[in-house]
Amino acid sequence: KKLSGQEIRRMYKQFFAERGHLVFPSASLVPHNDPTLLWINAGMAPLKPYFDGREIPERPRIVSSQKCIRTNDIENVGHTARHQTFFEMLGNFSFGDYFKQEAIPWAWEFLTQHLELDPARLSVTIHHSDDEAYAIWHDVVGLPDERIIRGDEDNFWEIGEGPCGPCSEIFYDRGAEFGCGKADCQAGCDCDRFLEIWNLVFTQYNREPDGSYTPLPKKNIDTGMGLERIASVLQDVPNNFETDLFKPLIDAAANISGQVYGQDAANDVHFKIIADHVRTVVFAIGDGALPGNEGRGYIIRRLLRRAVRSGRKLGVDRPFLNELVSVVSDIMGQDYPEVREKLDFIRKVVRTEEERFHETLADGETLLAEWLDRLAANGETTLAGRDAFKLYDTFGFPIDLTEEIAAERGFLVDRDAFAKELEQQRTRARQARQTVDGMNAQRTALETLTVGSRFVGYDELSAQAHVVA
Ligand code: ATP
Ligand code: MG
Ligand code: MG
Ligand code: MG
Repeated sequence: KKLSGQEIRRMYKQFFAERGHLVFPSASLVPHNDPTLLWINAGMAPLKPYFDGREIPERPRIVSSQKCIRTNDIENVGHTARHQTFFEMLGNFSFGDYFKQEAIPWAWEFLTQHLELDPARLSVTIHHSDDEAYAIWHDVVGLPDERIIRGDEDNFWEIGEGPCGPCSEIFYDRGAEFGCGKADCQAGCDCDRFLEIWNLVFTQYNREPDGSYTPLPKKNIDTGMGLERIASVLQDVPNNFETDLFKPLIDAAANISGQVYGQDAANDVHFKIIADHVRTVVFAIGDGALPGNEGRGYIIRRLLRRAVRSGRKLGVDRPFLNELVSVVSDIMGQDYPEVREKLDFIRKVVRTEEERFHETLADGETLLAEWLDRLAANGETTLAGRDAFKLYDTFGFPIDLTEEIAAERGFLVDRDAFAKELEQQRTRARQARQTVDGMNAQRTALETLTVGSRFVGYDELSAQAHVVA
């Protein structure tokens, strides 16, 4: 069934509204009253007070399509078919109300009867201890044993103490041509063949301070389905970026650059980075964040700079991201009127930021190229930490940008020495300014939330107090 992103979003809400759920609007990407998070990164994040009992929801069943930002996936963007830094998470939630017996069959019904996915292509993972979930998948839904795969920590959701529990993830087999070809490739493999579309979390335990698990008197359901992923399946396109939620952005970037999408793998990565990062920045600014040197502001700045650089890789040497802002608004404005209402403001902020970066970027890249030429001439393979720091400090190059450019020519960057330089600068900077509260907590939360994260760490980012902007 070919459905637009908007149709899927609406069908999902309607399906669960018909089953007693209150339709919640997406919360702002900027967390409200939550010092542990930099950005809302899951549908349940703004609903935390309902999960831990601090507040009582109007109804014990909620459905939403939540705007999410995950900076830990930044390195994946353009390289996997399924990761963005901004995505929408469709979610249904139960607060001490229904549990697995309802959540699992409903998920199945929605996927196979409403979205009309081929049941033969679906498989699931469960936690190895979760015989209850196994029985529902096997006996109620009728899934054969070989398509119910028992996993371990990937199928257990917890952050330190508090409510936690097993989860069951649903995968769609995109076909062998998407696979890594390994003999043990199945649901849960990190390649793009078995696409994780939906995570059902069964919050049934409380993790106690002594590390033991006690059953919760009121069990919760917390699910999350990536809208762009399910759209890629339904629209039969090979990755999230070719869905109607993204494609107009790629087309616009193709027009501006004169390059053609789909002809060169390296260029395609840049198209995807541009489309992704622009969307993230538009929504972040739409929710009140602004480019800056710290925290959320630095994330926006970093995303814009990466997108600028991808633009340059496609041959665009002038500010152009601001021209894509209205495209985001065209795609998303109906269900997210905030981006439409703030269009002019967002465009202006993006343009100013782009212009400032262009001024320093060209100078930094020229310098780096000279350094790499010299290293090559001397038969060396590693750029000194001091040089990387100079690019960072004087030209606003994030370390990953320097590493990317160096890697393209086969060079390494001495990250440890860079970190030392940074540490020294931090010490100096600390004396000159106040540290914002809760930064360590945010970093810890980000790190624990993500398995195998390559996010460079919040401390490193927040340390950039006097990056030249
Ligand atoms: P993956 O293993 O593919 O990185 P995940 O296990 O980290 O995904 P969850 O935390 O379970 O993802 O989030 C629930 C759902 O949200 C996922 O099943 C997926 O559909 C979607 N999702 C998660 N991260 C992203 C992302 N970076 N971009 C797009 N969709 C995402
Ligand atoms: Mg996963
Ligand atoms: Mg998951
Ligand atoms: Mg992930």
